[in-house]
Amino acid sequence: MGITTLPLDSNGHVIASNDDNTVTVYEPDEFVRLPRLIAGIYSRCAQCGEQPEVEVEGDAVRAQSPCALPDGITTAITLEVPSGKLVVEDDLRHVYRCGDGDFADYNSVLGQAQVIEAMAAIGCAYGPVGNSCPGLYRTGEDTYVIASPRYDEDDNPSLPEKDRLAGIVTDLWAYSIADLEDFKRRGGDVDALGWTATVVDVPPGTYRFTHHTGEVGFDHYADDTVVFAHIERVTSSDPAA
Ligand SMILES: [Zn+2]
Repeated sequence: MGITTLPLDSNGHVIASNDDNTVTVYEPDEFVRLPRLIAGIYSRCAQCGEQPEVEVEGDAVRAQSPCALPDGITTAITLEVPSGKLVVEDDLRHVYRCGDGDFADYNSVLGQAQVIEAMAAIGCAYGPVGNSCPGLYRTGEDTYVIASPRYDEDDNPSLPEKDRLAGIVTDLWAYSIADLEDFKRRGGDVDALGWTATVVDVPPGTYRFTHHTGEVGFDHYADDTVVFAHIERVTSSDPAA
């Protein structure tokens, strides 16, 4: 069996499992009757969720179809907050159910963006954050972030504790945020959520959530503060304002 190491031309897909972007090709011969084996590639692209065909072409291994999402996705959704109160939790799926839908693989950027959009359409600002236990922080007038601070040698966080409005446990590896009155109208009960839920007062209005984990190069393990989402109040729901 011939074994060669070749560069991978991924055609925009994120499929390389080796840092140096090479794959190992195990070529069958007359004694070893096995199909050709190519190692060093994940089965699905982390961006588009597809499983591209790869072929040995000359001195490289090439994905045969281009990635539909080579630049990743920044997902922007809006949440109406007429009550001026947010329920902040990891998981509100018992109240906001977007179903399984016809989504791409949830492990891909595309699949996660589709779930973010579907949850927003039924009134829940949702976003994957990994196992990070982030917080909701106020960063200015009408601006917020969902972020994980880093700590210096003296245990001082990179985001001020006084600006932390809620912590988010990550049993689900996500945040879920809804308008309190909408949540109650749909049968939600904050007391039943227990200690993990926080109700946060904010000015009533429309809030835009810009979610970043689908962007190419997003680093969950960055040395600096990891910002999963920026939140901004974009319109006031008070007609007099
Ligand atoms: Zn792809």
